[in-house]
Amino acid sequence: MRRSGDRPPGDPFAVDPYTPREIRFHLVGSLLNGALWLASLLWLAAAWRAHPPAVAGVALAVLAGVFAADLLSGTLHWAFDTWFDDGITFIRRMVLQVREHHIHPGRIFKIHFTQDAGTLSWIALLLTAPVALGALLAGAASLLAYAVLAAAVFNPLLVFMLEFHKCGHRPCGPAWVKVLQRLRLVLPVRHHLRHHSGNHDVNYCLINGWADLTLGRLGLFRVLERLIRRLTGAEPQRDDEEWFRRFGRPLPRSGAAGGDG
Ligand SMILES: [Zn+2]
Ligand SMILES: [Zn+2]
Repeated sequence: MRRSGDRPPGDPFAVDPYTPREIRFHLVGSLLNGALWLASLLWLAAAWRAHPPAVAGVALAVLAGVFAADLLSGTLHWAFDTWFDDGITFIRRMVLQVREHHIHPGRIFKIHFTQDAGTLSWIALLLTAPVALGALLAGAASLLAYAVLAAAVFNPLLVFMLEFHKCGHRPCGPAWVKVLQRLRLVLPVRHHLRHHSGNHDVNYCLINGWADLTLGRLGLFRVLERLIRRLTGAEPQRDDEEWFRRFGRPLPRSGAAGGDG
């Protein structure tokens, strides 16, 4: 968790080492979320021993959990690419990590899983705890038990989303990963490289790209951009463009909001 990647001296993406307070924040988030995930699975096992679930319900819940995790991975990525900058202290590390990834995509492999797992665990915890609480109150026989399964699938996928992202940068990955990529269960390299080959405004999703192929193609992120621009007056991708200019690499369609795909 302490590592911030080996960067050359004076590198603009270098960040300070993690403070003890930040490490505690990551650890507490990871432990609480891990405990919630385990408790949810134990509750589900007990609930469904007494009230066996429908197979179709189980399948739908698994698909919903995977899709929701992919969609949130893309939404977080889109938000960091489009709206944030390193002047926001709380998210400075993540903004710099995202900007660095666009300039030096290969450096992603220097970023250890534990650097982001704590933050992602907090997000997963805040989103899945209400589902668990609702199911606990509604009882084992309720339809909310399926929501608990969806949340149990969603949770680890979100926490590990940057490991899935690394698969999208590994053309020579292990054979079993390639099979999963071919089946579109894991982010395919060709799909993700489209994000890096243009204006960084397509194929944001990092787990398997299902949400890119559906809501992304329907224009979800462009609609959100128009809405936010109208409400705040902010222009999308300003900070990302600025970093590219600093490295003498203007974006191909600077300032334009391209299509999803
Ligand atoms: Zn990438
Ligand atoms: Zn990006």
